[in-house]
Amino acid sequence: MLKEKVVSARRIAEVVATLGQEISADMEGRDPVFICILKGAVYFFTALTQHLSRSVVVDFIQVSSYGATTETSGTVILVKDITVDISGKDVYLVEDIVDTGLTLEDVIALLKARHPRSVQVVALLSKPSRRKVDVTVDFVGLEIEDRFVVGFGLDFAEQFRNLPDIWEFAP
Ligand code: 5GP
Repeated sequence: MLKEKVVSARRIAEVVATLGQEISADMEGRDPVFICILKGAVYFFTALTQHLSRSVVVDFIQVSSYGATTETSGTVILVKDITVDISGKDVYLVEDIVDTGLTLEDVIALLKARHPRSVQVVALLSKPSRRKVDVTVDFVGLEIEDRFVVGFGLDFAEQFRNLPDIWEFAP
């Protein structure tokens, strides 16, 4: 059930606009490709890329982790690969939330094998207290406590992604 609103749609919009400005400045002199990690990041991704100051290439990747319900298992399998060539490009990898960091670590390794010039991570939310591996999140929207959240793309058992606000959820 939904327990408490953690981030309102209004606050999300502000955070996304700020990130859009920061990343637009960072893109100067780069050849950017924005990669969305499906499905959770898709709402954030579409909002964010519309705040960028110029045209960018977009693509999508989907991974899944075995087993767990509200926790990642640490074993990531590739469900859908990107379709654009990222060699020599500056990748901005867009994630919904960074928890242990295990998913990102695997996705970054997979992308780096294609020889991009750079890979930077953009996350709407981060739970720093939960980190198990040392991944650099270059652009973070908001840091939150260790609570399981749904909405604005984030799911529980594939439900709640379409909620405009982000809520704490208790199964
Ligand atoms: P990590 O590999 O960093 O532990 O977990 C990353 C993935 O786990 C996220 O992309 C997301 O799919 C899922 N995840 C982590 N924390 C939450 C959360 O609080 N709510 C939801 N809905 N998913 C989460």
